[in-house]
Amino acid sequence: MKHNEEIHDEIGDNHIGSCATNPLREDAFDITDDEKIESIKKDVESILLTLGMDLTDDSIKGTPNRVAKMFVKEIFGGLNPARKPKASTFDNNYKYGEMLVEKNIIVYSTCEHHLLPIIGRAHVAYISNGTVIGLSKMNRIVEYYSKRPQVQERLTMQIVQELQNALGTKDVACVIDAKHLCVNSRGISDIESSTVTSEFGGKFKEPQARREFLDYIKLETKF
Ligand SMILES: [Zn+2]
Repeated sequence: MKHNEEIHDEIGDNHIGSCATNPLREDAFDITDDEKIESIKKDVESILLTLGMDLTDDSIKGTPNRVAKMFVKEIFGGLNPARKPKASTFDNNYKYGEMLVEKNIIVYSTCEHHLLPIIGRAHVAYISNGTVIGLSKMNRIVEYYSKRPQVQERLTMQIVQELQNALGTKDVACVIDAKHLCVNSRGISDIESSTVTSEFGGKFKEPQARREFLDYIKLETKF
C-alpha cells in the first residue's frame, strides 16, 4: 500500500490538478497582506537557515522580506479576489460579428506542485453576441489568473470561464503554450518541451471555428 505522502508526490510530479478552482481555504483572507508578508518572511528565513545559509551576509539579508513581498503582492497576488480586474464591456455598436483573437499574451505563472515558473503565451478568442470587451482586459484577465499557484489546465479554463461570464456568451476559446521550469530545469531536465492546453467553448467546439482560431494563432505578426 502506498503512503499518503507517496501518492501526493506522484500527483504533483505528474502535474495532475485535483480541482477546477484553486484549492483555497475559507480563512484565506482573514489576515491582511502585511500580516502574510510578516509570516512568510519568517518561513523563508527558516528555510534558508535550515539550508545552512548565513543570513547576516549582506547579499541575502534582505531575501526573506523580498521573497515574502514577491509572493503576496506579485507572483501569488491573483489569489486575492480584491485584485480581480474589472471586466468592463461595451455594446458592439459597429456590429462586428466575426471572431476576435488576442494572441501572444505573455503568461508568467507558477506551478503549484513545485513552485517554479510556468512561462509561455496565451491566445484568447471570442465571437461577440452583442457585447465586446477592451483588448487590454483580456491581457489583465490572463495576468490575474496566472498570478496564483497553478496547473496550466485550470488556468486555461479559468480564463475562458471569466470571459464567458463577462461577455455573456459561451463562444470563447483559449490556448496556452508554456514551458514549465520544473520540467525544463530539474527532474527530466528537458529544456525543449512545452505544454499546450486548450479550452474551446460554444461555437469553438465546431471544427470550422476552431480551425480558424488555430490558423490565426499561426499567423506571424509583422510590423
Ligand atoms: Zn511542477
